[in-house]
Amino acid sequence: MTVLALDFETANERRDSACAVGLAWIEGGAVVRRESRLIRPSEMRFSPGNIRIHGILPADVRDAPEFPDAMAEFLPDLSRGLILAHNAGFDIGVLRASLGAYGLPVPGLAYLCTLQIARRVFPDPAGCGLGKVAGRLGIRFSHHDAGEDAYACAEIALAAVRETGADGVLGLTHALGMPVTAVPAGPPPPRERPGAVSARAVAAARAERAAPEPDLAFAMRGSTGNRYAIALERRPFGLYLRCSCLAGRNARRCRHVDAIVDGDVTDLLSGNLADVERLRRLIAAAPFGSRVMPERVRRIAAA
Ligand SMILES: [Zn+2]
Repeated sequence: MTVLALDFETANERRDSACAVGLAWIEGGAVVRRESRLIRPSEMRFSPGNIRIHGILPADVRDAPEFPDAMAEFLPDLSRGLILAHNAGFDIGVLRASLGAYGLPVPGLAYLCTLQIARRVFPDPAGCGLGKVAGRLGIRFSHHDAGEDAYACAEIALAAVRETGADGVLGLTHALGMPVTAVPAGPPPPRERPGAVSARAVAAARAERAAPEPDLAFAMRGSTGNRYAIALERRPFGLYLRCSCLAGRNARRCRHVDAIVDGDVTDLLSGNLADVERLRRLIAAAPFGSRVMPERVRRIAAA
């Protein structure tokens, strides 16, 4: 039986926003193959909190394949193998939600959670997060890179096999009395509602509405190294992002405003990531849709 570890990184709070996948195959008690791919999420919206975790920016995935193409070569192994994931509910959830988002059926899946394995075999008051367990076991990897995380997950399972004397990874289920979780094959899962957001995001949005509207301003580095100031203005017809670059001063769309609206903080000099997220929520709640661009604003103003 194929045994492989799986790890996803996501662009935002939605499960169907995978932006990277990592896989590591186990054979004969060792990791024998590692792969990782960048994925272009169908909605190019990156939350600063997620960027802080994995460091993947919209620009990194702009030319990457979308989920079905990125995953096509791996789905056969995932469907006939035993999947390992650290906090597997998350990664299996991303897999299912992403298949659903593209109207694809879910293959039969069988998985084991290495977080649960670690809690039984390597308990520690410091916790059993991937970085913590890997650190205690001396597994060297770079945390929050999908390929590296999958590798660490596989090594944790192998360490548990050695520790328990189990007969391979599948033998852990007997050694630990921990059954494999099986997901039956089925039709495409229902799409996440377009507005579906986590309870935490809803609470944040509520707090945002209750709070006075923030004065949002950003500093961006231009392609020639110039520093440009972007300020959010409230005009009678809605939100307006004014940029101090030449295009912006002429009320034309510019790449600096585009980047901020996309959540691409590659050239953000002001470092106020939370404000980028705040701006995103303001735009999402704005009556004129998800883009705040001078040309659009002009059209609305002229109408
Ligand atoms: Zn500009």
